[in-house]
Amino acid sequence: MNYNVNEKGYYGEFGGAFIPEMLYPNVEELRQKYLSVMAEPDFIKEFNQLLKDYVGRPSPLYYAKRLSKKYNTKIYLKREDLNHTGAHKINNTIGQILMAKRLGKTRIIAETGAGQHGVATATVCALMGLECIVYMGEIDIARQAPNVARMKMLGAKVVPALSGSRTLKDATNEAIRDWINNPVNTHYIIGSAIGPHPYPDMVTRFQSVISEEIKWQLKEQEGTENPDYVVACIGGGSNAAGTYYHFLHEQDVKIIAVEAAGLGVDSGESAATSVLGKEGIIHGCKTLLMQTKDGQITEPYSISAGLDYPGVGPMHAHLAKTGRAEFMAITDDEAMTAGLELCQLEGIIPAIETSHALAIFEQRTFKPDDVIVVSLSGRGDKDLDTYIKYFKL
Ligand SMILES: *Cc1c(COP(=O)(O)O)cnc(C)c1O
Repeated sequence: MNYNVNEKGYYGEFGGAFIPEMLYPNVEELRQKYLSVMAEPDFIKEFNQLLKDYVGRPSPLYYAKRLSKKYNTKIYLKREDLNHTGAHKINNTIGQILMAKRLGKTRIIAETGAGQHGVATATVCALMGLECIVYMGEIDIARQAPNVARMKMLGAKVVPALSGSRTLKDATNEAIRDWINNPVNTHYIIGSAIGPHPYPDMVTRFQSVISEEIKWQLKEQEGTENPDYVVACIGGGSNAAGTYYHFLHEQDVKIIAVEAAGLGVDSGESAATSVLGKEGIIHGCKTLLMQTKDGQITEPYSISAGLDYPGVGPMHAHLAKTGRAEFMAITDDEAMTAGLELCQLEGIIPAIETSHALAIFEQRTFKPDDVIVVSLSGRGDKDLDTYIKYFKL
């Protein structure tokens, strides 16, 4: 079984590029060039240099002693929370801004929901001196004020999406409209392992530095490159794709994907796409997405803004369908409890997205000698308000 993208842009039956005809030249240019650009020694050198000196990589692989003791197994945390800007998203935006420059683009657009991807994009645009326009739903602008302020300080223009539910999918529509109108000088930085081919594969390759590092770091600490399990939370699926990438075809490494069950998988307020999703088309690719009987996209819900997405990337749809990955759904309450537990056992305040991945240890048992690597996708500073309200701190 192949878990990587094939030459047609598919992961099994998922993926492809379902785009309006007017977008075809932009996506096709990227498709033709992305692999050769990424293979240029010059590109690799600049990417690695920035990951090291600007992002702060390699991120540590930390053996969580007290957490391991509590669950009677061996838990390692891959510390993406220690990256500049506080999460894994910067790995992808660094890669894509270098790609944009190699393609001769001078203007960057992005969509953002909670604002995390918008901030990571505005950051690299400032770094490279490129114009940055971030589309964001009007509702999200109102509820994510600190990230809007960050983007503005970094020099980005934040444009409200005023149509529909005025959230992420409307911001995405605005970004696509912009790209159609500015095909020559503009690159669209998509923030997760989603979108039309080649985006899911390109984003996955930029994020694959995570599993590349895990291999040699685990070798140093455990004497073996392969853990028994790799675990990550899934919104669109970029930190997960990067964490799994170098283990996808290693038979002895089991994969666990953690989705947000919100108030419960059957509550109608959830984002557990692998359970509730049906095949459909979202953001230009065929994947699993939550939809009504007549194909309208269902509004997802999760306490964590980054997991509040109605689909999953096509790689993950394929991993679910083939059974390569075990999918688990974690509720708001389970995640919040696990987040607080990490604070008190390890002195690390995780992003609420990440807390979902940590919650699996209450749900399922592992053997004492199992080695489990969890992607600690981001830090919790951005979520302090939610933690304060939830725990009445
Ligand atoms: C955005 C985000 C996620 C979800 O995005 P993926 O593309 O699924 O990785 C997870 N964790 C954190 C900290 C995030 O900021």
